[in-house]
Amino acid sequence: MATAELAKNPANYTTLTPLTFIARAALAHPDRTAVIYGDIRRSWAETYRRCLRLASALQALGVGPGDTVAALLPNVPEMLELHFAVPMLGAVLNAQNTRLDARTIGYMLDHGKAKVFFTDTEYHQRAAAALSDCRQPPLVIDVCDPHVSEGRRIGRISYDELLSQGSEEFRWQPPEDEWHSITLNYTSGTTGDPKGVVYHHRGAYLNALSNVIGLGLPSGAVYLWTLPMFHCNGWCFPWAVTAVAGTHVCLRQVQPERIFEAIRAHEVTHFCAAPVVLTMLVNAAASTQVHFAHPVTAATGGAAPPAAIIEAMEKLGIRIVHLYGLTETYGPSVICEFQDTWAGLPLAEKAGKIARQGILSLSMTDMMVADPATLEPVPRDGATIGELFLRGSTMMKGYLNDPEATAKAFAGGWFHTGDLGVWHPDGYVEIKDRSKDIIISGGENISSIEVENVLYRHPAVLEAAVVAMPDPFWGEVPCAFIAIKQGQALDEEEVVRFCKANLAGFKCPKKVIFLDELPKTSTGKIQKHVLRSRLAAMSA
Ligand code: ADP
Repeated sequence: MATAELAKNPANYTTLTPLTFIARAALAHPDRTAVIYGDIRRSWAETYRRCLRLASALQALGVGPGDTVAALLPNVPEMLELHFAVPMLGAVLNAQNTRLDARTIGYMLDHGKAKVFFTDTEYHQRAAAALSDCRQPPLVIDVCDPHVSEGRRIGRISYDELLSQGSEEFRWQPPEDEWHSITLNYTSGTTGDPKGVVYHHRGAYLNALSNVIGLGLPSGAVYLWTLPMFHCNGWCFPWAVTAVAGTHVCLRQVQPERIFEAIRAHEVTHFCAAPVVLTMLVNAAASTQVHFAHPVTAATGGAAPPAAIIEAMEKLGIRIVHLYGLTETYGPSVICEFQDTWAGLPLAEKAGKIARQGILSLSMTDMMVADPATLEPVPRDGATIGELFLRGSTMMKGYLNDPEATAKAFAGGWFHTGDLGVWHPDGYVEIKDRSKDIIISGGENISSIEVENVLYRHPAVLEAAVVAMPDPFWGEVPCAFIAIKQGQALDEEEVVRFCKANLAGFKCPKKVIFLDELPKTSTGKIQKHVLRSRLAAMSA
């Protein structure tokens, strides 16, 4: 019998969806702790029942397949539950960045056609202002966290009231097609209005499992929520941690002392954080820092982690896994896969290896560093700069209602990341800059990340960012912005001396500007465009 005659049927083919993870967690480990938040402890059986109740109550409100449900929430249990309850209805979850202004929140509610909007009472002012401008205001549901003292209700009903109206008898079905949309995530909109990136059930399933393997999440992993769940759906970890029936430790605020304390108290095994959070941990007061008796792994990405920070984290006893990705790639899509031979390297050298972005994650199919005009791959020489291109199953469906931007992003059958890097002989990519951040001096490319890496090695430097400064002779030269650690002193001369000792002369900053704090985006990335405008204003 020809194998081609064998057909798909309901017994041998079901669509991939991360919803199966929670059903299985409740079946396999009903009594294991699923969620910890303050005094709250809930098991997997209870968490699953709450999600079913929430889905049924939302259905009674008229939410159905294809509808958008928006959420403006910190990392609280309700946000986790929405990651399951909303897709159970075939609806699409739009988790919004809680640090955005009212205008942008209103834009996203309108653009995404949100039917329901869950908002934390702490954000009542911005949420109300956003709603007042909406063309078709959604139904508002307040999430009332007892930890919020200044909160105000602005909605028709609270989350708990809604939950009490639902039924645990609710039954969900996997989507008929795994290409069905599961979430909508807006980019940060540094160049105009944010774009709405749409994910599907298949990609969410695959990236969750790719994370499980990439980070080595064991059954029952204890995961601390430092990375916002609104950021690329927490890089798909709401689903990944559930796949291993692990424990989600929720945290409302990212503060070093709370992070150290939570890891100690709950024996957290894994967490994810942007490099800026690792910098906070490394520079926290010694009395706050805890050296843990148990193994802890932190995944970092979202911006280039300086090798010095990786080194300092490893000294604290925290193993670092370096990930690279974008909103468009469901978060992690490239991973700095650890090579056995690195284990014996001196720490600084090992940190240097980990600081490279790496190779394809398990759920991606192909990558290349290539000429953006011809799509011709660059040689794997660790020197020629090209743009990073990706393709695979954990790639967005496209930008909502923006066919032009979608076509541009996928031109030539590859996703254009807009990041520039080199390809090493071992196949690892090393990002040198975003295309718009690279500094071209006298025809030579200077990677701002390379210069920043050196600056971070100076003991007095807390934060550093390097941008291009116009120069009549060289075209552009590097200018460094630096925030100094508390109680330390540093001047321009010392910075230049330190750079000259560690970098080629033409890469050394020609100007150094000291700031109390560097401006950051709502996702904690240093805003180089703000620094460039400051520089322009200073020289005007
Ligand atoms: P936004 O583009 O709105 O800042 P994203 O979270 O999608 O939001 O950011 C993706 C970008 O972040 C990438 O294009 C890249 O420039 C940067 N990035 C992410 N991870 C890394 C990393 N590990 N190293 C260097 N840059 C990174």
